[in-house]
Amino acid sequence: MSVGEFQLIQEYFAKELSAFGVNLGIGDDCALLTVPEGRQLAVSMDTLVGGVHFPKNADPELIAERAVRVCVSDLAAMGAEPLWFTLGLTMPSSESNWLSGFSRGLFKAASEYNISLVGGDTTSGPLAITLQVHGSVLPDKALQRCNARVGDVIFVTGNLGDGAAALAVIKKEFEVGKSAFAYLMSRYYTPKARIREGQLLTKIGHAAIDVSDGLLADLGHICKASGVAAVIEAERLPISDPVKKLCDPDTAMTWALTGGDDYELCFTIPPSRLRVFEDLQAKYNFDCTAIGEIVSGDGVSCLSEGRVVLPPKSAGYEHF
Ligand code: ADP
Ligand code: MG
Repeated sequence: MSVGEFQLIQEYFAKELSAFGVNLGIGDDCALLTVPEGRQLAVSMDTLVGGVHFPKNADPELIAERAVRVCVSDLAAMGAEPLWFTLGLTMPSSESNWLSGFSRGLFKAASEYNISLVGGDTTSGPLAITLQVHGSVLPDKALQRCNARVGDVIFVTGNLGDGAAALAVIKKEFEVGKSAFAYLMSRYYTPKARIREGQLLTKIGHAAIDVSDGLLADLGHICKASGVAAVIEAERLPISDPVKKLCDPDTAMTWALTGGDDYELCFTIPPSRLRVFEDLQAKYNFDCTAIGEIVSGDGVSCLSEGRVVLPPKSAGYEHF
């Protein structure tokens, strides 16, 4: 069944809010919001296009969950606390089944991150989803890309390469058993935005980025912005068991270095704060791995047994 524009906004997106700082939510020309006192607003936007960022026929609940998580991941990478988001939804038709699944996934992920939908725009056209997220961060505490310094240790949270492996499985390039399939699909459709880790890092970390385009590309952004280089060790890359079982070690390494879609945080810690960081890791069960070091120069190199390894496709995904 198809539904009209105003009815669909009402039915699927306008939820009663008791969220922080929302003086006026969905329904007027603008939302009215109050930024927490003494904090800066952190704003980020992501667009997910059907057929480019996710399969067009994917479950709408998962599409929405993924959209929220991917966008909130940028707040995590800045060390910001989620507050509000807006949604630009373009879709070929207004099918009530699709919309109710989409709305369910949207609010499920939003409630997990305590972020409230405060407005948006709905149009017809090829399926595309744009989210703008708003968060707050203490002035001077945001984890900017330009803050890496020579001598910093480079860490990543969780595992790398799962996103690329999942995509290869979705495209039927690889076959996996039931439990590996479930693991990879959850890593692809419901990645965990590392909000808590990002906020802990504002106390002691230097630079951070979320790995959306591939570690080499994203760590490269930190290096460029900071005027430094990075050396990482292939043997230290955290790769999940399902990925290790799925393919040969070279493919796993290539996925971990260039695959993207992992939404883990890559961050740097100065040597003077490593002790404090270790305490933090233990106290908060902070899942991360040291993979290398910031050095002088430019670019990112990956060493394996002392030799430079460059994966076949060494850049991350670029649209143009
Ligand atoms: P306008 O014509 O002033 O742009 P709209 O008719 O586009 O207003 O939207 C009406 C209200 O519904 C606004 O408050 C807008 O923020 C909200 N809205 C529209 N589409 C969405 C959506 N997909 N998700 C959340 N809110 C939406
Ligand atoms: Mg509008």
